[in-house]
Amino acid sequence: MRTLTKEMQNQITPASAVKLLKDGNQRFVNNLKMNRNLLQQVNETSESQHPFAVIVSCMDSRTSAELIFDQGLGDVFSIRIAGNVVNEDILGSAEFGCKVVGAKVIVVLGHTGCGAIKGAIANVDLGHLHFITHKVQRCIPALKTKYPNASENDMCSHVTKENILLGVSDLKSRSSILEDMEYKGEIKIVGALYDISTGVVEFLDS
Ligand SMILES: [Zn+2]
Repeated sequence: MRTLTKEMQNQITPASAVKLLKDGNQRFVNNLKMNRNLLQQVNETSESQHPFAVIVSCMDSRTSAELIFDQGLGDVFSIRIAGNVVNEDILGSAEFGCKVVGAKVIVVLGHTGCGAIKGAIANVDLGHLHFITHKVQRCIPALKTKYPNASENDMCSHVTKENILLGVSDLKSRSSILEDMEYKGEIKIVGALYDISTGVVEFLDS
């Protein structure tokens, strides 16, 4: 697998960027990891970087974007925060990744069994955690109305998916730069769900 150059990045479209991630996850779940010389990639990326994707994922120790999408050094901007929520700092980071450096896709990647989602549902309030749980909780009242008899597990999975879509919507609606880039077809902003029991990433239609 070659280290991305500016020319290679230019040839990647938003749609082919999603395909690169899907193919990488296929390799991951089939244990067919690409053979990379990471030390050589250190050398090849020492002057510049041309990643094709921005991935906003949870800090969970089981959800490393580079590993689950089988990517090397210089391939993706990996932004990690509990509950994969979007705040101003994340917006700025995503704007930098796409507008300044040329990434073609932003993926908001949630995952099953997420502690931040469980904490938001249970209304855990500790230290600064409420900054995160409050963002997740925005979707809970509507989901409780829609699924009044949902079990705890089902509610967790509803909130997980809705929180991913909230992240996608935040990126589009709170950043005129990203909204404009997507409107012009320069980037795609998509949601995806990682299953911690299978390693499979499912891309969501938003
Ligand atoms: Zn999580």
